[in-house]
Amino acid sequence: MAAPQRFDVAVIGAGITGLSAAWELVAAGATSVTLLEAADRVGGKLVIGEVAGVPVDAGAESMLAVRPEALRLASEVGLKPSIVHPATRGASVLSGGHLRPIPIGLVTGVPTDLRALAASRIMSLRGLLRIPVDQMMGRPALTEDVSVGDFLSRRVGREVVDRLAEPLLAGVYAGNPDQLSLRMANPSLFRQLARDDSLLNAANAVKSGSAIAAGARRGPVFAGIRGGVGRLAAKTEAALAAKGVLVRTGAQVTGLRRLSAGWQVQTRSGPLDYDAIVLAVPAGEAARLLRTSAPFAAARLLSIDYASVAVVTLAYPAARLPALTGSGFLVPPVEGYQVKGVTYVTNKWEWEAKAAKTATPKGMAIVRASYGRCGDIAVLDRDDAELATLARRELAAIAGLPPITIDERVTRWNKALPQYHVGHVELVGRARDSLVDAPGVALAGAAYDGVGIASCVASGRQAARKVLRDLEESVMEDHG
Ligand SMILES: Cc1cc2nc3c(=O)[nH]c(=O)nc-3n(C[C@H](O)[C@H](O)[C@H](O)COP(=O)(O)OP(=O)(O)OC[C@H]3O[C@@H](n4cnc5c(N)ncnc54)[C@H](O)[C@@H]3O)c2cc1C
Repeated sequence: MAAPQRFDVAVIGAGITGLSAAWELVAAGATSVTLLEAADRVGGKLVIGEVAGVPVDAGAESMLAVRPEALRLASEVGLKPSIVHPATRGASVLSGGHLRPIPIGLVTGVPTDLRALAASRIMSLRGLLRIPVDQMMGRPALTEDVSVGDFLSRRVGREVVDRLAEPLLAGVYAGNPDQLSLRMANPSLFRQLARDDSLLNAANAVKSGSAIAAGARRGPVFAGIRGGVGRLAAKTEAALAAKGVLVRTGAQVTGLRRLSAGWQVQTRSGPLDYDAIVLAVPAGEAARLLRTSAPFAAARLLSIDYASVAVVTLAYPAARLPALTGSGFLVPPVEGYQVKGVTYVTNKWEWEAKAAKTATPKGMAIVRASYGRCGDIAVLDRDDAELATLARRELAAIAGLPPITIDERVTRWNKALPQYHVGHVELVGRARDSLVDAPGVALAGAAYDGVGIASCVASGRQAARKVLRDLEESVMEDHG
């Protein structure tokens, strides 16, 4: 048998996407891999911070368990024994100044159980009565992408958008539902809407489909990692290093040049040549790097918008705490607050509760409050102290938390969450298609295929396979 061909491949950007791409390249077993990361650490949006001596994820803090990719990577790099699931699943939404439990059966905010929705008292009677009008409107026959906000407003009324879809989606995308692509936000619902009679029926079909899948899979929807999801990045880095991958932090890539075979990567310490590259950096950075060698793709990527967000992590003294129920709450803008979502960290994760119990002072509650939406960044103009004060004030008003904390941390994520505007799938398709003339390069990451960790892992692995295919094809062509 012929020895496997060795290729030199560089992965640019060591967020979870780049780490996954490198891991897949190594799994292919025939490649020398270099990971180039601008920052002084790997992980990107996966990082563990600390408040009052307790480790807390300062970026992503949970992974979808209904998709296999994130948990598979965690297992492969030795984290299987550390995979945990939330201790509590119930969350609330602020409605009319009251925290109301989020009812079961929402599909991208579309209710599939109207009784549960009515019982939750999140919606007005008028808003509730508007929902079934959808079933008298005729088939949606959706063939083109639409915005979640426009489409849901038309079919089930604006209140569903303002009270349900907006807060649920803002928690993931920090975006505006009137711009958010339905096709990206829920591909299954988008496909179902081409064939179902109404939005409500389509949402029901999607719900039953995922219920069957969940039944077959049997398990919780989300997972975390004991010690923090940030460990996934650190463990993957260690596993890569053990497999001989060169991980270079503090190695910002400043330019790219196409060679007759392969790519030249410019770094501050000089140019490096590779057979292929995976670009696992945010879209704006990918655009900058590709602007001379692939200007059409670069122009498409440049049009992808990003939202900036900030996470305020607060440690509250146990003594003065009200009863905190569930994993936290969401706050729609119609309620008049700036905070977007709040996680009761020590309720949600048992390992955090244990860590808080043994820290000093004992028994703190740790709470994460999230600020910032696309196009509404004024709240982020505050300095850290002002933002923490705002968080304390708003959490006291909404949930009765005490006005005093033991410790607090503000983590800013500038231009962190890509915005999937209507037509995003086509835009990304055009950018990728235009790269057929430039083999040996692949785009991967949150900007393209989904913001969640599972999507990013999948995107990284797919990009790795794509560049290897390109390389194998070029070898076959050479051998004629
Ligand atoms: C506050 C917050 C909370 C979140 N919570 C969750 C959650 O709970 N669950 C979930 O599934 N998802 C969550 N997400 C989303 C998810 O974390 C991100 O979408 C995902 O981590 C993005 O990974 P990435 O590798 O594509 O990009 P990034 O993490 O942005 O990584 C890109 C990397 O490229 C590097 N880079 C950039 N330019 C260059 C260059 N020129 N040369 C070399 N390196 C470069 C950057 O330094 C960075 O390390 C959250 C996101 C944020 C911001």
